[in-house]
Amino acid sequence: MPGFEIFGAEEKKEIMDVLDTGVLFRYEFGDQRKGIFKVKEFEEKFAGYCGTSCAQAVTSGSAALKVALIALGVGPGDEVITQGFTFVATWEAVFEVGAIPVFTEIDATLNMDPADLKKKITEKTKCIIPVHMLGAPARISEIVAIADEHNIPVLEDTAQAAGARINGKHLGSFGKCGTFSFDPVKTMTTGEGGMIITDDDELWRTMSEYHDHGHDHKVNPAGRGGEGRRFIGFNYRMMELQGAIGIAQLAKLDSMVAAQQKNKTMLKSGAGKIPGVTFREILDDKGDSATFFAFSLQDADHCQRVNDSLKSDGFGAINFAENSWHFYPGWEHLLGEKTVTFSGYPFIREGGKRQVVYDPEMLPRSAEILGKTLIYPVSINMKPELLSDMCKALEKAAGA
Ligand SMILES: *Cc1c(COP(=O)(O)O)cnc(C)c1O
Repeated sequence: MPGFEIFGAEEKKEIMDVLDTGVLFRYEFGDQRKGIFKVKEFEEKFAGYCGTSCAQAVTSGSAALKVALIALGVGPGDEVITQGFTFVATWEAVFEVGAIPVFTEIDATLNMDPADLKKKITEKTKCIIPVHMLGAPARISEIVAIADEHNIPVLEDTAQAAGARINGKHLGSFGKCGTFSFDPVKTMTTGEGGMIITDDDELWRTMSEYHDHGHDHKVNPAGRGGEGRRFIGFNYRMMELQGAIGIAQLAKLDSMVAAQQKNKTMLKSGAGKIPGVTFREILDDKGDSATFFAFSLQDADHCQRVNDSLKSDGFGAINFAENSWHFYPGWEHLLGEKTVTFSGYPFIREGGKRQVVYDPEMLPRSAEILGKTLIYPVSINMKPELLSDMCKALEKAAGA
């Protein structure tokens, strides 16, 4: 999964281009920068790669979610629907804009269950965030169709699925906009960094201005200091060094995915020998970014026995039902409404009213699915001996 496995001469060259000019800032410094605009080039290449008209680089995948929500106009009093199996950043971003997250069940894709989404839409719903977890798609066409019926924009959290596609169309390009993360453990990395893609030029313009203190970026004689502004913004700018690394990593993304697909196929054949095993539903195997391999056992007991056997061979797998950063019942700080605000906002609103009640038992179907599912991260440089040892451990676990 991590792009840092293959850092090489390409990244170094891109970084040196920047250091040779001494300009680390993405805007201004026209005389000094010798025409080098790495962040801008990274944005153009990323949009071109994903097949969208615009891309906006920001400081992280979390910032990408927040900037996208802001640009979509989501704010206090609004509800945003996402899935109960995701990284905390997805719903942290919702709180960042003062809105309230509402959670759906997952289905066999390990992503948002469209049937449950339908039940959770209210007149307060202002955005829907399906997450393409573990490198593979949510039922995005169905989700967009449901959202369209209600005129609600879809923001795809594609942080874990750069390079993944359905029938050739990139994840992140189905909804109104899609966000990506380039943090140290994501498929392609710039250390820290994020991107938002969209085909909506006006939405992009709002994101571009908001992420840079409102600067309208219009050419004028006084330079940056003379620029106008339409609204209050903030600073989520990516720096040139990150843009430089991003350009080199993006050029390698398809080959990273191909290597991961090959490694995943090996693991799948090993796990296929376990009686009663089933695999995560992947809507398009060819478009899977293959950053993770997920397989389900007959029930939670069987899952435990298989994982105990795998652990005894040194190859214990992840069971996300036990994970406190990615699954709803483990988010005790959310369930306990632990905010740093004196007022208790946004959990408690005027008059002490609560808008949403968070109950740990609320997503039984997700708990059942994750409770019997084991997951291995798949990386780029897995040695044949390692894969064959893992397959042997899986075969042994077939007797568990
Ligand atoms: C990593 C991740 C994020 C946040 O990205 P950062 O760059 O680490 O801020 C958001 N959503 C999901 C699903 C992620 O996995």
